[in-house]
Amino acid sequence: MILEIIKGDDSPVLRRRAREVRKIGKGILRLLDDLLETMREAQGLGLAAPQVGVSKRVIVCDVGEGPIKLINPVVVRRSGSAVAWEGCLSVPGLLGEVERAEEVTVKGLNPEGRETWIDASGLLARVLQHEIDHLDGILFLDRARRVVDEEEFERPSLSVVFMGTPDFAVPSLERLAESSHRILAVVTQPDRPAGRGKRPTPPPIKRKAEELGLTVLQPESIKEPSFLTKLKELEPDVVVCVAFGQIFPAALLNLPPHGCINLHASLLPEYRGAAPIHRAIMDGRERSGVTTMIMSPGLDKGDIILQEEMDIGPDETAGSLHDRMARVGAELLVRTLDELARGEAKPKPQDESRASYAPPLKREDEIIDWGRSAREVHNQVRGLAPWPGAFTYLRGRLLKVWAGRILSERSPARARSGQVIGIEEDGPVINCGEGTYLLLEVQPENGRRMTARDFLNGYELHVGDVLGSAQGEG
Ligand code: ZN
Repeated sequence: MILEIIKGDDSPVLRRRAREVRKIGKGILRLLDDLLETMREAQGLGLAAPQVGVSKRVIVCDVGEGPIKLINPVVVRRSGSAVAWEGCLSVPGLLGEVERAEEVTVKGLNPEGRETWIDASGLLARVLQHEIDHLDGILFLDRARRVVDEEEFERPSLSVVFMGTPDFAVPSLERLAESSHRILAVVTQPDRPAGRGKRPTPPPIKRKAEELGLTVLQPESIKEPSFLTKLKELEPDVVVCVAFGQIFPAALLNLPPHGCINLHASLLPEYRGAAPIHRAIMDGRERSGVTTMIMSPGLDKGDIILQEEMDIGPDETAGSLHDRMARVGAELLVRTLDELARGEAKPKPQDESRASYAPPLKREDEIIDWGRSAREVHNQVRGLAPWPGAFTYLRGRLLKVWAGRILSERSPARARSGQVIGIEEDGPVINCGEGTYLLLEVQPENGRRMTARDFLNGYELHVGDVLGSAQGEG
């Protein structure tokens, strides 16, 4: 007969010491059969009488080596120790990591009343100890180092060393810390002098890691043997790199079993290199995305694991795309680790014939060429905002252009490139090689950032003036 299993860690019958069986009568034999039937129906490996509300020292188990029925069992010898996850039919939905003896000898009576000795190891040893605990009112929860719910247990988990430095990496670290993966340590660049006082300033990732209570490592160079030794000792399954800022040596790339995973801010193989966000906008792209890949010695040439496409708005700035990519990339990174943990990741080599580069920004990239179209100027301005900024010259003085708007795709006849052809309420209108551009936000040399309207109130600018020459023309 199938009996009802008592559930809950506060149920009195599960929490008191069960009584010795003095006489093996029909009642005990029926109890043994019912326990076995109930255990099988519930797909358990063992069951003790208190779990069906009978406070007697009787257990059954079957780990696939045949059923065992024991009366008044006692552990008479224990050796070794082993840690494993276990659950209990009386505490459904929870799993605990429990340390138990690896081998035991259990003495008890069989249904015929004869003394029986069982030498058990592995799973059988664990189940016997678990069931005998029930006879003393002990649940696996009492012995567990940690308890998780089943759902949690099924979530994938890798041990991770996270390497990153600037703001872009912060959402990835945050999202990873919330995930089922375990961060062993965070590696970031040393504190560098910054600001007016040139005081050593921690990188954004260091601040976030400390807030999350994670261990922070700041090697001067990741090629230092002492750093590689330290990393080896941590035994990470995977190293995750998000905008770290140093070249990875081969010794590091080959260290973790799952390799080093990088989050890159483009749809590789397009825009390999240092400035993929800026370059995509400066090129007027309407779409880009984020990629995770297994790092290899070449520059962003590793096998692709996952990609996510993203639209770029017509007026979107590099700053806005940077923030969105950091968030979307963080999700992609956790999904990548989930797939790696489950063995579902299928890295694919990049198509070299489609590769393009996004080299670091240089001073030349920031100078506005008014001979280009208004659209190209607009792409340059928003692709360089909020850092480092596009600039032009007005009467030989530098003028940064932080924001503007395409006013017309056509230029008026007889106007020069860079010439102020009108003053609107919001700002001056500049003639381009093709089309006209309205300045909305600027910053004069040694001045603060301001609206073009404020600029017009404080600085001399007239129709006919020409922007763009460092020689003070116009
Ligand atoms: Zn149990």
